[in-house]
Amino acid sequence: MTTAVHSPNRPHWDCRACGLEWPCEQVKTDLVNALDPRPRAMYAASRFVEAIHDLSDVDPAAIFARIFFWTTPRGADRDA
Ligand SMILES: [Zn+2]
Repeated sequence: MTTAVHSPNRPHWDCRACGLEWPCEQVKTDLVNALDPRPRAMYAASRFVEAIHDLSDVDPAAIFARIFFWTTPRGADRDA
């Protein structure tokens, strides 16, 4: 699992490894492989709380969609 490398560069929340918005596709792939849906959603929810604190000038709904929504079955279907 390479999530430690593809970690969020706070407080900007870009990926330390690839520079894309965190979570990048590598992080999503790693989390899907490493965690079952429920713990994956719990992990994403905790990062979401950190992100809305750091990105106070960004719409929380956009942060939710970016960091949490992809972990849900509906979000995963949308991205497929
Ligand atoms: Zn990355």
